[in-house]
Amino acid sequence: MKRIIVLGLIAVMLAVTLWGCGIETPQVQAPPGKSGESAVDDVGSPADDIQLSAGELSVHFLDVGQADSILVLLPDRRVMLVDGGNNADGPMVVQYLKRLGITRIHYLVGTHPHEDHIGGLDDVIGAFDVEKVYMPRVAHNTRTYEDLLTAIKARNLKVTPARAGLVLVNEPGLRVEFLAPGGSGYEDLNEYSAVIKITYINRSILLTGDAGFESEEEMLASGADLDADVLKVGHHGSRYSTSDEFLEAVSPDYAVISCGKDNDYGHPHEETISRLAGHGARILRTDREGTVIITYDGRDLKVRTGQPVGK
Ligand SMILES: [Zn+2]
Repeated sequence: MKRIIVLGLIAVMLAVTLWGCGIETPQVQAPPGKSGESAVDDVGSPADDIQLSAGELSVHFLDVGQADSILVLLPDRRVMLVDGGNNADGPMVVQYLKRLGITRIHYLVGTHPHEDHIGGLDDVIGAFDVEKVYMPRVAHNTRTYEDLLTAIKARNLKVTPARAGLVLVNEPGLRVEFLAPGGSGYEDLNEYSAVIKITYINRSILLTGDAGFESEEEMLASGADLDADVLKVGHHGSRYSTSDEFLEAVSPDYAVISCGKDNDYGHPHEETISRLAGHGARILRTDREGTVIITYDGRDLKVRTGQPVGK
């Protein structure tokens, strides 16, 4: 008990130091680095036949078992990583990125402080040049959360609060924005999940972390444009996420579920699968298909499955 209190205190102190006092105003960021500089080289397995050409958006839903880790390569080769799997997945996630030639992560997002999302991020921060870190403004009294804050501090990084309305990229043909969390004081940490919408030309991808009905209702009430071609299904396919109303608004062609084989939670739940099927979404599951890669070059949206993750 004492240890938990001490850890909590350290975590809160670190959080206060890292958050600072101001909330960053939404802003458009210029692409970092010189023009022509590339963060991604076309090298290496496991995905050596994946086109990493400029002008293509590619989103990799890594098979990290019962957890989330999503790598987004923006068309101008900026790199975004959304979650880093469990603690044990850290080295694997690092290896996957390194094999793609990645050295710099421009946007690192921890959707919410549960281990299956932030567990591997301390390894990631230690292994790459990270420019910006985004997390919802909520602390969690765990060793995993403390380790992440320590890693962030060691690299002299600050945490920018993830919240609805924050726009990361707003350029002709490309927009990256947070649609949630829209509030605070949630009882369930999952509802703090950072929800990200990426739109490239005329296609969109929606990444929802572990957001549940409460957050979904808030997004619907906000009037945000939720329509997306690809939905990363909330909370590993839990029955308490992905409502019919939400699906009606998103109307995804593809629904990606990140979950582990025979996981303890019974994810994905049958109710969610039948809701997704009812809305005509093609379901892709990392427990069955392995890593799922979706690419869009402005003309064709392509899906690849069965990519090994550095094991
Ligand atoms: Zn989770």
